Amino acid sequence: MTLCKSFASFAGAQMRFEIMKYKPVIGVIGGGQLGRMFIEEALRYNIECIIVDADKDCPASVIAHDHIVGSIAEEGPLWRLGEVADVLTYEIEHIFIKPLFELEKAGKTLIPSPRILEIVQDKGLQKQFYRDNGIPTAAFQVVEGLDEWKTAIKTFGWKKFVAKLRKDGYDGKGVQIMDANEVLKKNVIPFTAPAVLEAFVACKKEVSIIVARNKKGDITCFPPVEMEFDPVANLVTLLVCPAKLNKKLLQKANEIAMKVVERMQGVGIFAIELFLDQSDQWFVNEMAPRPHNSGHHTIEACYTSQYEQLLRILLGLPLGDTSVIKPAVMINLLGAPDFSGPYFLDGYDEILKLPGVYVHLYGKKESKPMRKLGHITILGETVKAARKKAKWVQSHCSIRKLKQ
Ligand code: ADP
Repeated sequence: MTLCKSFASFAGAQMRFEIMKYKPVIGVIGGGQLGRMFIEEALRYNIECIIVDADKDCPASVIAHDHIVGSIAEEGPLWRLGEVADVLTYEIEHIFIKPLFELEKAGKTLIPSPRILEIVQDKGLQKQFYRDNGIPTAAFQVVEGLDEWKTAIKTFGWKKFVAKLRKDGYDGKGVQIMDANEVLKKNVIPFTAPAVLEAFVACKKEVSIIVARNKKGDITCFPPVEMEFDPVANLVTLLVCPAKLNKKLLQKANEIAMKVVERMQGVGIFAIELFLDQSDQWFVNEMAPRPHNSGHHTIEACYTSQYEQLLRILLGLPLGDTSVIKPAVMINLLGAPDFSGPYFLDGYDEILKLPGVYVHLYGKKESKPMRKLGHITILGETVKAARKKAKWVQSHCSIRKLKQ
């Protein structure tokens, strides 16, 4: 690891202009796009961030003050981060948890606590947490192996159900919507590893609410966003803020989202994903204890972004106003399904002629099918206007192969 020399020599001179007397160094576990956008905000506050990520070219590497090139699934790099950073956070859930507990024991501040990460890393523990705390969630059973799958299907009388790997799934990988008869008749299951089987919720809407809670227990919600999915890749393709909900449904959703975080005694930023079923009942699907894809739009659409809010919590500063300045639609820029390799955003110059269009590229060197390469936030005077503009943007730009 090489410490940035220029930082060391300028540090003294810069101190006069700091907003805080005590200026902690923030350690970020993971250097993906979420880490990168977080560091963009940290730079605005003149706060230094050190990342740990195995990929030397990861999206956050170009703006981090330092980069420990090492795996977050190994003890060594996490300890090294603990040695150089005052406060630690993470932008991804797939982290080796043991050293995080040890760092916490050794007096390091980790936000959110590894205690929460441990629950979130295991969809089985997460569902049990919701059940134990009276938080509405789809009926479920933790299972392992064909016999337990069949018993659960019969016990609940499911026709359709959802199977999820307990650990290491992400972005819809390790999640399958299944026909109960197929399993009962053919005796074939997609995974034998520990899994959660849950009732299929016929959703009217899928909504995400980002909740921020600080050490004092102050809590605030970002306005809910509605997510629309690519049915093939099971990835969010379009996100609308604020979600169209009547006052009662909005209030209930906020109540449930805040209850999840309060019951976990969570400090940090938490994305709570909810299903609204056909009879207007809310169910918590899952939560992420970090900034989330469904909060990208907050950079331009809200007074305080999800990234700034996390930064404020890490620094012990007051929570920011989460109100919407203007309605927004966010679209993910995904790698085209038919190629891997260098790419460019075709149509960039056309779409930037429109007001209220913000392109974010994450600096990933290569495209891969359905890889998240960037996103575009589109603001409008109304949700309808933003949607209309977003449709135009979607049809006028795309990720294309760069011929070299
Ligand atoms: P991941 O953690 O990989 O993102 P999720 O648990 O969020 O996976 O599931 C991915 C998607 O699958 C959800 O956004 C939703 O569209 C669908 N899904 C998951 N669970 C259910 C369910 N119980 N009923 C209906 N659809 C579901």
